[in-house]
Amino acid sequence: MPEMVINGERKASVSGQTLEVINPATGEVFTTIPRGTAEDVNLAVKAARQALSGAWGQLTAVERGRLLLKLSQKILSCAEELAQLEAQDTGKAITTARNDIQVLARYFEFYAGGADKIHGETIPFLNEYAVQVIREPLGVTAHILPWNYPAQTFGRSVSAALAMGNAAVVKPAEDACLSIIRIAELALEVGFPAGALNVVTGLGEEVGASLSAHEDINFISFTGSGEVGALIQAAAAKNAVKCVLELGGKSAHVVFDDVNLAIAPKMIARGIIANTGQTCTAGSRVLIQRGIFDRFVALLAEEFKQAQVGSQEMDLSCGPVVNQAQFNRVNKYIEMGKAEGLKVAAEGTIHPDVSEKGFFVKPTLFVADKHDSQLLQDEIFGPVLVAVPFDTEEEGIQLANATQYGLMGAVWTENGGRQQRVARAMQAGQIYINGFGAGGGVELPFGGMKRSGHGREKGFVALEEMSTTKTIIHYYGKAD
Ligand code: NAD
Repeated sequence: MPEMVINGERKASVSGQTLEVINPATGEVFTTIPRGTAEDVNLAVKAARQALSGAWGQLTAVERGRLLLKLSQKILSCAEELAQLEAQDTGKAITTARNDIQVLARYFEFYAGGADKIHGETIPFLNEYAVQVIREPLGVTAHILPWNYPAQTFGRSVSAALAMGNAAVVKPAEDACLSIIRIAELALEVGFPAGALNVVTGLGEEVGASLSAHEDINFISFTGSGEVGALIQAAAAKNAVKCVLELGGKSAHVVFDDVNLAIAPKMIARGIIANTGQTCTAGSRVLIQRGIFDRFVALLAEEFKQAQVGSQEMDLSCGPVVNQAQFNRVNKYIEMGKAEGLKVAAEGTIHPDVSEKGFFVKPTLFVADKHDSQLLQDEIFGPVLVAVPFDTEEEGIQLANATQYGLMGAVWTENGGRQQRVARAMQAGQIYINGFGAGGGVELPFGGMKRSGHGREKGFVALEEMSTTKTIIHYYGKAD
């Protein structure tokens, strides 16, 4: 039975209560997780605080790096077990889950290498003064995770926090706890000291709310919806702690007449169908220059028609969505699109052998005449793509920026000047030119603009986010 990991031990919740875990492909309960409360959060935060002044806090940066590397290797040696857990829990096609576990291991490998490579600086100042700027951990860091990429988002924020010497309390999403619990167990097996990494499972409004409002945390990394992100920022403000918010997106592809047709339609379709569209960075809008619009839509339609949806082990283009609420949400948007008069250009198929109780939705390609549909504003978080025509470069940029979000984007053109102009004018934290990829990119700074959040994870910049500077000013003159 999966349990929480607090202070180096596997634990049921203090209340003894549990939550059911449902397989999205069958709609059936297959295990339970502890339903933690504020009491469990208190224990975890206390354990993390003690770890900082105990064995974990005593480690040198080199030693921390070695532990992270050991965990990365352990994850790789248990990769299939972790991938199976992740797939069963979230509904991911098994190949997607396997890839996610490789990325998880890579995060720990990358930040293992970073642990001893963030150096301070010295600053020339007045005569007989030495000034050092040193980097210190923030302290107890809280990590509140979403269900769409549990292992990857865990790797992303927790490995960087641990590399910098912080202790971590992790609250995974209710629908996606199993891989996270197992990783915390593996961390203990490879020698992480008690309390360095704690996992408290439970409901967002219980565990998440009490963790983010806890008076003894020093930092929050939150990945999830904008609505909850606003609550997290308010809670962080109350205790004056820093937070990184990785929120939703409505990323646009801007496709010009001279696009390379051999690459773009495939990559764009994959970018919304993979993980059943439940990807913050999914390219869910495709803006296509009018001269090539019909031809490009026809090529995209071919990709959508070939998309097949099935259970995790069928390992088709994508699996079911994560739960009943998500199933209802995606279907609501598909119906809304039809009611608004958008044309369905193509749909994928659901494999005939799937369970009727599973949460399967058809990948759907819509065509709109104008950029005025609700489907072009809201994050649907499903395999739904809307194509819209535009005429000039200026209009393409203006439409790309015409949502509240700014997470990612892509420009597709062979014209070098245009590639640079459009990439620079698009308001998003990451822009691809003639390519598109969600996840991965462990080395590449990532994060949102506008309502997609603030702060950066991935790359070396995360090590700076998850630490602080201290300036030491030393006067070494003689008394006279
Ligand atoms: P969510 O906001 O519903 O939940 C995220 C986490 O917050 C969960 O662990 C949940 O239990 C917790 N939570 C819920 N209520 C809370 C509260 N009152 N206080 C504290 N914590 C609370 O999001 P979700 O549905 O799990 O994930 C989907 C969203 O995440 C999408 O919007 C997606 O775009 C976003 N996302 C963003 C990124 C990114 O890197 N920018 C990555 C993955 C997902």
